[in-house]
Amino acid sequence: MTGPSVAVVGGGLSGLTAAYQLSRDLPGARITVLEASPAPGGCLDTVDFPSGPMELGAEAFIGRRPEAAELVAELGLADALQHPSGRSASILTGGRLVSMPAGTLMGLPSDASTLGEVLDPADVERAARETELPLDWEAGGDVSLGGLVAERFGPAVVTRLVDPMLGGVYAAPSRGLGLRQVVPGLALALDRGAPSLTAAAKELTAHRAPGPVFATLTGGYRVLVDTLATASGARIVTGARCTGLHREQGRYALDVAGANGRWTEVADLVVVAVPVPDAAPLLAATGGVDAAASSLAGIRTASSAVVALEVDRALDLPDRSGVLVATDEPVPFKAMTFTSRKWPHLDDRPGHLVRVSFGRLDDDEVLDSSDDTLTRMAVSGLADVCGSDPIVMHSRVRRWQNSLAEIGPGHDALIAEMRAGLAEGLPGVEVIGGATEGVGVPACIGSARAAARRLAAKWQD
Ligand SMILES: Cc1cc2nc3c(=O)[nH]c(=O)nc-3n(C[C@H](O)[C@H](O)[C@H](O)COP(=O)(O)OP(=O)(O)OC[C@H]3O[C@@H](n4cnc5c(N)ncnc54)[C@H](O)[C@@H]3O)c2cc1C
Repeated sequence: MTGPSVAVVGGGLSGLTAAYQLSRDLPGARITVLEASPAPGGCLDTVDFPSGPMELGAEAFIGRRPEAAELVAELGLADALQHPSGRSASILTGGRLVSMPAGTLMGLPSDASTLGEVLDPADVERAARETELPLDWEAGGDVSLGGLVAERFGPAVVTRLVDPMLGGVYAAPSRGLGLRQVVPGLALALDRGAPSLTAAAKELTAHRAPGPVFATLTGGYRVLVDTLATASGARIVTGARCTGLHREQGRYALDVAGANGRWTEVADLVVVAVPVPDAAPLLAATGGVDAAASSLAGIRTASSAVVALEVDRALDLPDRSGVLVATDEPVPFKAMTFTSRKWPHLDDRPGHLVRVSFGRLDDDEVLDSSDDTLTRMAVSGLADVCGSDPIVMHSRVRRWQNSLAEIGPGHDALIAEMRAGLAEGLPGVEVIGGATEGVGVPACIGSARAAARRLAAKWQD
């Protein structure tokens, strides 16, 4: 039986996962993935250093969430799973590297007495008084994560602990992020009646599942991208930018621009899997889903850049997984990952592998620098952290435009409304990706699979 034709706009992890799931749930579907750039993968970008693969985008996923681990197993890649060494990150604050205090949850302390190395004594005292403050929490509610933490523990906990922890994942300060999306366990502990943030953090850290939190794959994310692309059986068209989406006689017409000109793809079902600044205008142009388009357009995004380095092993790299940077620290980078210290399977390279990350929401100044300048800043930051100049064996710079969304308070309700608007105004169209069910690899996989299942169920209805 011939199935529907499906167009997936965007060949990142979300688009490829949706294509794969649709191929399972709608056998016979003719699936086309339109990808604007020269290769699929989006923020998953493994490149070849002379010594082997190196990630320029995402480098890991949370293995304790089920979505990525299940997909990896389903694709037959479980044997390629790798876990970190267990070394922890340092925080760069006041010009010094200090250890991340024990018992923190996304930077939130469960015991203020551990904060002496990171905070001034007055700030430690203030954080310790958090348990004495009355907590005004409405079960099921949502608030600004950074706002709540600053109000209860004091702003130094935000600047020196929470924002450095979240900076690599969200690129947005925690004051713009919703507690429920970013630390769902904490929101649930408050819903259950925890009397303070300290108590909620203590409850969660005491019941942490044993074993490694993160995982990646031998060979890097390229393996996942290639396996998904093949398993989906989709026609993947690269260098193909979707510039318009219209409803035509119950089907959808997609305007596409490629190197060899423009054409139209016609599809019964459409998955839009591109960052919000690209998705919102596509929806707006269709007419009829103005509210959905404008709620997406209202989600702000941050750009970032990664400088990936391989440096001579003569450099005395700290025995840490990396460095998180307090947001009041006068350095241009926001984090460093000592990749070969963090991942034992990458520690057999001739040099140390290091990634230096730049870019925070509303602060694109440093990203306007040339690649050479970014590399110089990365190398000089590394020299400061290690106390001597590295000899660079290889380097690559990768910029990520508008790739990380600010998931604000009330995000879930906004997305539910957006989905309801789409179901009514553009039936058979789904919007997925990093700004819908949450930033990060597991969230994107979950979002894509759920959307594909909704489309399949609707088509078979
Ligand atoms: C530097 C960095 C590090 C990260 N590290 C981690 C990590 O370690 N762990 C983790 O879980 N998450 C991490 N993330 C987040 C994670 O990588 C993303 O949430 C996820 O990969 C997003 O996938 P996506 O498919 O939704 O979007 P994208 O990866 O952005 O893919 C969207 C694709 O759509 C294409 N596109 C855009 N517009 C159009 C158009 N009009 N027509 C056709 N194609 C179009 C783009 O070229 C792109 O390939 C990181 C992100 C970045 C930027």
